Amino acid sequence: AKRQGKANYQVYSYTDSIHSYKKYNLDQDMRKAINNEEFEIFYQPQVEPISGAIYGAEALLRWNHPEWGYVSPGEFIPLAEENHLINAITDWVIEKVCAQLKNWKEKGIGLKPIAINISPTRFMKKGLAEYVKTLLSQYDISATFIELEITESTLLQNEKNVLSSLQQLRDLGIKIAIDDFGTGYSSLMSIRTFKPDIIKIDQIFTRHITSEGSVDKGIILSIIHLAKELGMTVVAEGVEEYEQLQFLLHNGCHYIQGYLFSKPLQKKDFYQILKTGS
Ligand code: C2E
Ligand code: CA
Ligand code: CA
Ligand code: CA
Repeated sequence: AKRQGKANYQVYSYTDSIHSYKKYNLDQDMRKAINNEEFEIFYQPQVEPISGAIYGAEALLRWNHPEWGYVSPGEFIPLAEENHLINAITDWVIEKVCAQLKNWKEKGIGLKPIAINISPTRFMKKGLAEYVKTLLSQYDISATFIELEITESTLLQNEKNVLSSLQQLRDLGIKIAIDDFGTGYSSLMSIRTFKPDIIKIDQIFTRHITSEGSVDKGIILSIIHLAKELGMTVVAEGVEEYEQLQFLLHNGCHYIQGYLFSKPLQKKDFYQILKTGS
C-alpha cells in the first residue's frame, strides 16, 4: 500500500499488501528459523567442463517455511540484510558447512572445496577470519576446503577494513571468489583491489552466449583471458545448455556451474556424487 499522496487519493494495490503482509511475517519468522531448523543447505556442483570431474560446490541456503513453504533466498536474503539477521544466518551456514565437511571426511571420502556466500555486512563485521579459524580447528578441516564468495558491492564498503579482512582470510589459506562478476559498477577496480583467487562469471553473460549478435561472447572471452593473465581461476555460472558448455570449454573456462550438469542438491545427493567421483 502506498502512502496517501498530496493529491489526496490512495493508490492501493492488492498485490502490494499481500507482499508486505508476507514480508512482515517472514521477517518475524526468520528470527525463529535457525532454532526451528527450517534452514537447509544445498550444494551445487562445480565441474571441470571437459572431464565432468567435480571441482567443488557452492553452498546455497534454502528456507522451508512452515506456512509459506519453500522461500527463495532471492527473497529472504535481502530481508535478512534489512533486519540484521544476515550475520547470524551467515555464521550458521559457515558452521554447518564445516560440520558437514567433517562428517564427509569421517565417512572416508575425498573432500572438495565448498564455496560460501558472504554478504557485505558480514564481511565487514569484525572477527570473520577468527570465526572461520576457530571452526576450522574445531571441526579439524583444512582451510583449502572453504572458499568465500563476495560480490563487487563489498568494495563499496570501507576499503581499508575490506582489505584487512581479506588479508586475514588469505593468511589462513582461504580462497576468495568474486561473485556475479561483471554486474557491478567497478568490475576492473574490484579485481585490482580484491585480487581474488576465483572469478565467477555471472549468469547474465552465460545466458546469451549463443544469441545472434550478442556482445556476451566477447565479454566472456575477455573475462577468461583477464583471469588467466592474472593467474586467477574462472568459473562460469548458469550454464544450462550444451552450446554454452561448448563455447566455454573451447575457450578455456576452468570450471562450470549450472543446471546442465546439476541443480543445487540436498546433502545426501551431493554425498553420492562425491562418493562415486572420488
Ligand atoms: P548466487 O550466489 O549468484 O547463486 C547462484 C544462483 O543461481 C543460485 O540461486 C542457483 O540455484 C542459481 N543457478 C545455478 N545454476 C543455474 C542455472 O543453470 N540456471 C539458472 N537460472 N539458475 C542457476 P539461489 O540458490 O536461488 O540463490 C540466489 C541468491 O541468493 C544467490 O545468488 C545468493 O546471492 C543468495 N544466497 C543463496 N544462499 C546464500 C547464503 O547462504 N548466504 C548469502 N549471503 N546469500 C545466499
Ligand atoms: Ca554465489
Ligand atoms: Ca553468482
Ligand atoms: Ca546472483
